[in-house]
Amino acid sequence: MRIAFGGIHTECSTSSSVLMTEEDFRVVRGEDLLSDARFQFMAGSGMDCLPLMHARAVPGGPVSRKIYEALKAEFLERLSAVLPVDGLYLAMHGAMNVEGMDDAEADWIAAASDLVGPDCIVAASYDLHGNVSQPIIDRLDIFAAYRTAPHIDTQETMERAFAMLVEALTSGVKPGIAWAKIPVLLPGERTSTEDEPAKGLYALLPEIDRIDGILDANLMVGYVWADEPRATAAAIMTATDAATAEREAEKLAAAYWNARADFRFGPATGSLEDMLAIASRAETKPIILADSGDNPTGGGVGDRADVLAALTAAGWQDALVAGICDRPSVEACFAAGEGQSVTLTIGGSLDPASRAVTVEARVVRLDDPGEASERQAVVAIGGITVVLSARRRPYHNIADFTRLGLDPKSVRLLVVKSGYLSPELAPIANPNLMALTDGSVNQDIEALANARRLRPTYPFQKDFDFKPVAVLSKRWQTR
Ligand SMILES: [Zn+2]
Repeated sequence: MRIAFGGIHTECSTSSSVLMTEEDFRVVRGEDLLSDARFQFMAGSGMDCLPLMHARAVPGGPVSRKIYEALKAEFLERLSAVLPVDGLYLAMHGAMNVEGMDDAEADWIAAASDLVGPDCIVAASYDLHGNVSQPIIDRLDIFAAYRTAPHIDTQETMERAFAMLVEALTSGVKPGIAWAKIPVLLPGERTSTEDEPAKGLYALLPEIDRIDGILDANLMVGYVWADEPRATAAAIMTATDAATAEREAEKLAAAYWNARADFRFGPATGSLEDMLAIASRAETKPIILADSGDNPTGGGVGDRADVLAALTAAGWQDALVAGICDRPSVEACFAAGEGQSVTLTIGGSLDPASRAVTVEARVVRLDDPGEASERQAVVAIGGITVVLSARRRPYHNIADFTRLGLDPKSVRLLVVKSGYLSPELAPIANPNLMALTDGSVNQDIEALANARRLRPTYPFQKDFDFKPVAVLSKRWQTR
């Protein structure tokens, strides 16, 4: 049996004015996908796995239409070249927004589905922060999404989707999808699966999996920073029995709806001023302050200097800010050299609306892996150490710091651009504070521009009733 695989994986805030371009995507093509660690689980499946192309970008603003069309064309060309196939596996995120397009994943999946034909079984894996729509569901037979946020089951989710596809191909039993939309849009920071009520809701999923006729239960939080009609939470069942799938989707959707008012931020959360006041009194370390509005892994630009400005104004000592994307400042540091002093205007290098601050800095360390876009500079501004990066990127893993000779555990205050902390930073935070800062992923979601999301959607509108109604995929209805 022949299974083609690949996909596109990114998340786009429509509040960001900074378009994603070619440079933002890491594209793995053809045979290189077979040796890619993320797809190693396919080896030993007994299937003839045919690698296409996988494109992945750090979340950000909408994807440039030209780049999207080029990636899609290449993907389809590679798919055409391996036809016929019995199965297609798509590794997606699900919250991509493309310039001038409302449902980019539907466009991508429909184009692939048209090529492989109606008899090919199509499976997709998603991030639980993806925005699913009826046109997407209609083109899929198998769906699996992450069950953890922070995401620690990315790999398992891909394996779940692929295992269902292999099972369908070997058994000849074609699954289908039932889904129920939930008119609720909450930020990931209030729906972490480590905190209630999300923790308890996600604990239901393995129990639903065990029900006869259900293969895989999913609960989608959706992506609130996309002001688009498809943005929604949803309960989605991959199943072999339609009536059971509809019933369980509606039950799970109702459970999420009923909990809508109970979702809270996990860590101590408040204005930057309030969080820095708590930090200044803390006697433990490292205090990890999340600059949540500018989190690049949520779709923030990552070029803002609001927190740096507040720290320099307050004369903070023993603080580490990692990092701020500012290519001109990185280049200025490289031009000056290690040990030299340089005047930098940090911030607003990509988004003119981002806060900037002009400082006298000493270049402590330069990191040059070879490409200009990968360069980093560590600078000291009084008692504050700042990591500057040439490209948009997070500093969420310990190795991101050790590479630069920095120890995130030993500083008094560590500032990262993050929402909920990553699995590597959360355990060392002592304490963790989340500042509700400005940016493209501002957590004050009720104040977000809201021209195109469906009405009513909680919490943009609050006073309305809702009863979930499950819908089957068109592929299942027309069989
Ligand atoms: Zn996510």
